[in-house]
Amino acid sequence: MSAVRIPQTVWTSLHEHLFSRPGEHFAFMLARWTYSMGRPVFMVQDAVLVPDERVEVDRSGWTLTPEGVVDVINAAVHSGSVLIEVHNHGGDEPRFSRTDLAMLPEFSSYTFDSLPERPYAATVWGDSTVYGEFFLPNGESGMLSSITVIGHRLRQLVSRDDSSPVPVTFDRQLPWFTLEGQRGLGRLRVAIVGLGGTGSQVAQNLTFLGARDFVVVAPCQPLLGTRPTRRRPSLGGPVDVAQACKQSGRVRAVRDCLVG
Ligand SMILES: [Zn+2]
Repeated sequence: MSAVRIPQTVWTSLHEHLFSRPGEHFAFMLARWTYSMGRPVFMVQDAVLVPDERVEVDRSGWTLTPEGVVDVINAAVHSGSVLIEVHNHGGDEPRFSRTDLAMLPEFSSYTFDSLPERPYAATVWGDSTVYGEFFLPNGESGMLSSITVIGHRLRQLVSRDDSSPVPVTFDRQLPWFTLEGQRGLGRLRVAIVGLGGTGSQVAQNLTFLGARDFVVVAPCQPLLGTRPTRRRPSLGGPVDVAQACKQSGRVRAVRDCLVG
């Protein structure tokens, strides 16, 4: 899963920089990085807010002035970070424009020259969602799967090309959660450690709410409904879990593993 994790404080300063004045504005996030199953995971530490006078925009796209480039690359070198480009389009479904797409390969290859062996990512921000793509030094690239803000609450902001209608099952909670909130919930990856009395209830109830992407850490052996433990009454047996997870291939796969 390719992901970007943004601290609330950094998100707040970026959002203000991008949206407090009309027009497109630019910034770069500075992030630590690792890989998960070959996909980059970026942990944002800080951001460089690019002054508008250091960005030149014309019909062929945007470019940073030489001073702007030096500032950004130096910040990444000094902090040992990778760069994630940020600019805003606004709207409900932000996507790169044709000119953005024309500029991305050039700028990403420039960062690979300046910051060897480090991945790069670019994001475009809508009013409340963010779309992004990553680029790896080996030439691979792809869409960012998850972009979350972490602070006093967790928010999934990612906008992806796989939006499908929200099932009618969730009609009653949609006015409260909103469409965006329901989609965000479905795009969170949730790790549950242990599927005992607490973990099984958490899995079931998150599935009812609309969570669809789980990582379950539990022994791969018959546990559910096979041992007369004190946890079983609260679990309700494996059939209930199957019912709760009917719509989730990922959870069902884990359940099959667990009930053997
Ligand atoms: Zn753009």
